[in-house]
Amino acid sequence: MKRTEILGKKFEELIPSSEIDARIRNLASEINRDYAGREVIFIGILNGAFLFAADLFRNITLKARITFVKLASYEGTSTTGTVKELIGWNEDIKGADVIVVEDIVDTGTTLERIVDELKIRKVASVRIATLLFKPDAYKKVIDVDYVGFRIPNDYVIGFGLDYEGYARNLPSIYKMIE
Ligand code: 5GP
Repeated sequence: MKRTEILGKKFEELIPSSEIDARIRNLASEINRDYAGREVIFIGILNGAFLFAADLFRNITLKARITFVKLASYEGTSTTGTVKELIGWNEDIKGADVIVVEDIVDTGTTLERIVDELKIRKVASVRIATLLFKPDAYKKVIDVDYVGFRIPNDYVIGFGLDYEGYARNLPSIYKMIE
């Protein structure tokens, strides 16, 4: 079992890079089939989804564009607490068929925030593609349409996912073991 240590925390390999690469190609084929003849805008959520979005998009054969947005936290009023705002929109997405590309869906709070924003911007349709999904943690009702891997409630890193900003460059997914 491959192991690694980041900032004193120990992790062991959960999904090897060869499996990730193969699964991403399968997801892209599914999307190519489902959207045949249509144009799609992919919206990657930074920072974590940058590698997954790149590898997925490389395998898309549709007429397609990609853009990236980021969730920025700022302190709201004492009643609203921390507010998360989506920043970085540079495409007109009104009327578009959109696929949101996420690194991981955990509770689903982030996803819900993004889907609400897309509805405000009046997209024609929205589907979700995520590399990782934690079904036991998920608390929302939004369908997660394209899932790379369903994983237990472990803290994972690698392939874009970080621990304290590090480990995004690991080609495999690792889980924390202590
Ligand atoms: P949610 O809003 O679904 O609870 O959480 C989504 C966000 O939390 C992800 O985009 C990611 O930034 C972070 N997150 C959730 N679980 C993990 C994890 O296991 N590892 C890492 N590195 N980030 C996670």
